Amino acid sequence: MFSLAYKDGFVLYLLFTLGALVAVMAYYAWQARTREWRTSEEKLYRCPECNLTFIIGREQRRASCPRCGRRCGNRGG
Ligand SMILES: [Zn+2]
Repeated sequence: MFSLAYKDGFVLYLLFTLGALVAVMAYYAWQARTREWRTSEEKLYRCPECNLTFIIGREQRRASCPRCGRRCGNRGG
């Protein structure tokens, strides 16, 4: 009687361990899928005055060159 309960407990323990392993594997697969490479959303500008290349944020419409101060933007000038 005791050995039968012991076997049931072992089977339950084995199933729980396998379930936990599957859950961890599914979590890692989901994490690897959500952490793919993404294209940067920043903009790269090259100053026509001093030829300096610099990065501005995507929400930024206009920017001035950090070296010479010339205004650069979507509509020029
Ligand atoms: Zn410049």
